Amino acid sequence: MAGRLAGKTCLVTAAGQGIGRATAEQFVAEGAKVIATDLDTAKLAGLEGASARQLDVCDDDAIAALAAELGAIDVLFAGAGYVHHGSILDCTPADWEFSMQLNVRAMYVLIQAFLPAMINGGGGSIITVSSVASSLKGFPNRFVYGASKGAVIGLSKAVAADFVAQGIRCNTICPGTVETPSLHDRMLASGDVEQAKAAFVARQPMGRLGRADEIAALAVYLASDESAYVTGTANVIDGGIMM
Ligand code: NAD
Repeated sequence: MAGRLAGKTCLVTAAGQGIGRATAEQFVAEGAKVIATDLDTAKLAGLEGASARQLDVCDDDAIAALAAELGAIDVLFAGAGYVHHGSILDCTPADWEFSMQLNVRAMYVLIQAFLPAMINGGGGSIITVSSVASSLKGFPNRFVYGASKGAVIGLSKAVAADFVAQGIRCNTICPGTVETPSLHDRMLASGDVEQAKAAFVARQPMGRLGRADEIAALAVYLASDESAYVTGTANVIDGGIMM
């Protein structure tokens, strides 16, 4: 049986680990031609069936060059993001600029670069990664993260509205807390991994963290023609945080 993404060319950013990695793996398993990119190419090792490429999503020229090289793709998965820990009082202008650049500006540059060829190719699906820590809900110590992820929701809805008549769908995924290498780093940085994990789990009504493959399954749906009638949505997948 052909996979749900057979015949589709999919670009995945931040595919080295976590949600991006699981998404690239499931896209391959569903029959897509996958270009898996990351800032750190070493992290792309072992990603069977995908073509691995270095891409820093903060490098406008590199994005323009890759878009010119690839032409029309069917699916653009924009997953790179960074969690700054702290309130507004802890956020320096440099912290603000870094988070806004990686979490928001990079998505603007990426989508702007790939969109014209996607339109000319008959359309496609753009998937961004936001968070429940965004315009959806405030969390302690997620000031600039929440501000940036709220912007991702607005950016995604605006792209959906502008290009709905040209076959472009744009949806965002808003995960709760997902067990990924960067989450582990954040728990380590707290100085007490067990206590930090318990605190993360405590805010998940299901009593557990999410898994990257659970988020990737939603990405497959949004990439596939099964979601052909879905655009401009903020897809909460959070173990019940927002219920
Ligand atoms: P992660 O943070 O563990 O990994 C991120 C990957 O991004 C790494 O492979 C890293 O090398 C790459 N990367 C970093 N800077 C880059 C750059 N400039 N260009 C290209 N790649 C770069 O992954 P994750 O925790 O699965 O997070 C993925 C996305 O999901 C992020 O946008 C994050 O904000 C969002 N998210 C994560 C959680 C969670 O709990 N893990 C929850 C909600 C939303």
